Amino acid sequence: MPLTGEQIIGHQLIRGQGRELLAINPATEEAIPAPVFNCASANLVNQACELADQAFDSLRSTSPERRAQLLEAIADGIVGLGATLLERAHSESGLPLARLEGERGRTVGQLRLFASVLRQGRWQQATFDSALPDRAPLPRPDLRMCKVALGPVVVFGASNFPLAFSVAGGDTASALAAGCPVIVKAHRAHLGTSELVGRVIQQAVQQLELPEGTFSLVVGDGNDVGQQLVSHPAVKAVGFTGSRSGGLALLRAAAARAEPIPVYAEMSSVNPVFLLPGALAARAETIAAGFADALALGAGQFCTNPGILLAVAGPELETFVARAGACLADKASQTMLTAGIHQAYLTGLQRIAAQPDTALVAAGQPPSGATQAQGHLYRTTFANVAANPQLLEEVFGPAAIVISCQSVDQMLAFARSLDGQLTATLQLTEQDLEVARSLVQTLEKKAGRLLVNGFPTGVEVCDAMVHGGPFPATSDSRSTSVGSTAIERFLRPVCYQNLPDALLPDALKQDNPLQIWRQLDGVATAPLG
Ligand code: NAP
Repeated sequence: MPLTGEQIIGHQLIRGQGRELLAINPATEEAIPAPVFNCASANLVNQACELADQAFDSLRSTSPERRAQLLEAIADGIVGLGATLLERAHSESGLPLARLEGERGRTVGQLRLFASVLRQGRWQQATFDSALPDRAPLPRPDLRMCKVALGPVVVFGASNFPLAFSVAGGDTASALAAGCPVIVKAHRAHLGTSELVGRVIQQAVQQLELPEGTFSLVVGDGNDVGQQLVSHPAVKAVGFTGSRSGGLALLRAAAARAEPIPVYAEMSSVNPVFLLPGALAARAETIAAGFADALALGAGQFCTNPGILLAVAGPELETFVARAGACLADKASQTMLTAGIHQAYLTGLQRIAAQPDTALVAAGQPPSGATQAQGHLYRTTFANVAANPQLLEEVFGPAAIVISCQSVDQMLAFARSLDGQLTATLQLTEQDLEVARSLVQTLEKKAGRLLVNGFPTGVEVCDAMVHGGPFPATSDSRSTSVGSTAIERFLRPVCYQNLPDALLPDALKQDNPLQIWRQLDGVATAPLG
């Protein structure tokens, strides 16, 4: 599939009339000469939104089975791109091929997960409260509820997951599953990768004869296209992963509309690790090695990267710090996703280094390229963090701070003062359970996922996953962007009172034509047969 650099507007490929862009190889900082991409003009963005609006009624009325087939066709198409996709993503992102192969597996797995969610049917949450005609003093009508699609969704591709959080990533898969047309704004950092995947989706939509506006992909750089998309009246929800400033700007744009809409923005998180005294005494060196591995993984460019670790001061903490520093010192520097993200990383390191009473423990192997990130491990004290809260701002990359506390009470106080997080980790043994219980009570108010004796990088795609959390980790703590319940962001409930069968959606028809699980007068009920 030769790349053209054109925008995907429904069934068409159209050259943008905006500024020219070339993809950049972050490892060499050289432009990739072909193709030339152009930013979308306001007209093209409008066309994509209008088409999505026109497609909505038809798409939301398709059977769940048909949308499942769409998701599977997209998954097959992505696999069918073979090495072409991996090599393009490698040259645009600097991410190693093995990592991208794993990410492709995750992307395809997500699409197939949502296909199975659609077939199983619980996502519609079909609920029946039977009529009670003889109830006194007033009879109860027949009441039925199910979830319906929200409307066209704009998805912002994330720089740090060119496949799994981008054009056919979790936001797109869950929105299409819900029956929402999707307009993706390609991330500037992987334009060709976006086009390859976008063309696969376009073909799958055509093969399945779904409405033209089911999917579009537009290119922009410099906020205009993103602002226009979020402000367009046809758009009913937004999925975003990126910087806190970008997420907040989109939230403001969405709130300023005549009709405000939800923005599901995943922004920043330092993912604290609480190393409790029993675990510190029993496994300081092992945990140190695991921590350094998690910190350096993927040049630290995971939203779940552990950026903060707390433990009580003492000789065992010194053992931990020495071992973690030694492990990090062995780690090679790695190419970051873009020159801008690398520059932001250097600025973040300078900000940490400028704080009083904050010492560098160790740095990784020196960089051998201009955009390579060298791992950095710092240490400071609880008292110093309390006085210098800038130390707790996310530094996107392989940098972390060990915070030494005088007591577990200080660790608890730290937990109470935390901002919202995607994850919080406890390293513990049996003897730590009492303090762990207090920590869990606090941390479940602060984070979307709590984990014990592991590290937060590595987000399983499954039914029980929550990849979310209170602000600023995300803009809406009631939802997840990973796992099957991510579909709920793009649905809303409708109650049908006394509607005859002929007017009800299939999920609520009396004879259960979709053969799905339903709740009948308070009882979860399997389909017959
Ligand atoms: P970004 O700057 O937030 O950009 C992400 C997307 O949002 C781009 O498509 C961008 O479009 C759009 N956008 C940003 N600000 C906008 C605005 N004011 N109005 C309209 N659209 C806007 O994120 P990034 O480029 O991926 O990386 C920058 C920094 O974000 C990183 O250094 C890191 O700190 C953070 N980041 C965090 C995570 C995480 O998971 N925590 C992941 C990725 C990045 P334009 O290109 O058109 O501006």
